[in-house]
Amino acid sequence: MYDYDLLVVGSANADLVIDVERRPAAGETVLGGDLSVHPGGKGANQAVAAARLGAGTALLARVGDDSHGRLLLDSLRAAGVDTVGVLVGGAPTGVALITVDPEGDNSIVVSRGANARLTPADVRAAVSLFLASRVVSAQLEIPLETVVEVVRNLSPDGRFVLNPSPPRPLPTEVLAACDPLIVNEHEARVVLGESCVSEDPADWARLLLAKGPRSVVVTLGAEGALVADSSGVLSVPSVKVDAVDTTGAGDAFTAALAWKLGSGAELPEAAAYAAKVGAAAVTKRGAQESYPTAREVDAL
Ligand code: ATP
Repeated sequence: MYDYDLLVVGSANADLVIDVERRPAAGETVLGGDLSVHPGGKGANQAVAAARLGAGTALLARVGDDSHGRLLLDSLRAAGVDTVGVLVGGAPTGVALITVDPEGDNSIVVSRGANARLTPADVRAAVSLFLASRVVSAQLEIPLETVVEVVRNLSPDGRFVLNPSPPRPLPTEVLAACDPLIVNEHEARVVLGESCVSEDPADWARLLLAKGPRSVVVTLGAEGALVADSSGVLSVPSVKVDAVDTTGAGDAFTAALAWKLGSGAELPEAAAYAAKVGAAAVTKRGAQESYPTAREVDAL
């Protein structure tokens, strides 16, 4: 019996957003609109997305002892995430400084802050959370050695889901634990490195599978996704919606997929559900603010 359907290990950031007429060049100051502050970071996003769907969810993360950390804790708790694993202090909360121009193009500076201080020792100290969780998911906005420690602390029949974002080459030990590894095009190319010469996402899926994961999912935005395991590569169609803002769609997709897999769904079925959740998330602005409830997904 597990206490949690999903344990997310990852980042929590405050996203500080200012709309500008033009993004500043070097040495330039531009005036922008009012500042808006949003809870974000891939770990917190995934945890909120899963909890909003109804998954029993815990987050292992680190925030600062500051107002941004409190904003994140409030947002997580409001969504129903168990924050017992959210460590406080050691550095300021991670921040993303985002300027957005009228075309929707943005420039982002990230201060990793407390996310960079989530250590392998923090993972070992949270072993009871790992033993209590059916599925564990992670991303790469925390140190890679912390993710390595995560795969060493999974419960004996626990399942591990990784979205390697921001992408970098991955150690064999991490790749071998993924079931699935979830990538978009950019992440697939970075993880594959020089072996990626094809333009065909099905080839990326096959090449990634050959690197050791038990299964692979390639997300393709409005085109849906591909799932791949030892039985072959399958296409999962997207759901047609009017996209307003794609921010955080990948995090919602990953969270939904991880939860469904933990409930016993096969990979294609779980990915079809996750595609609906990703589609619902792009119909509203923002990341965490855009995540649907299970009822809203069923209504799609
Ligand atoms: P991000 O980094 O912006 O959060 P991502 O690049 O990791 O996203 P995407 O491939 O853009 O991930 O989106 C994840 C999934 O969400 C897609 O596989 C798809 O199922 C769904 N999705 C994304 N954009 C759309 C869209 N415009 N229409 C319908 N479904 C979408």
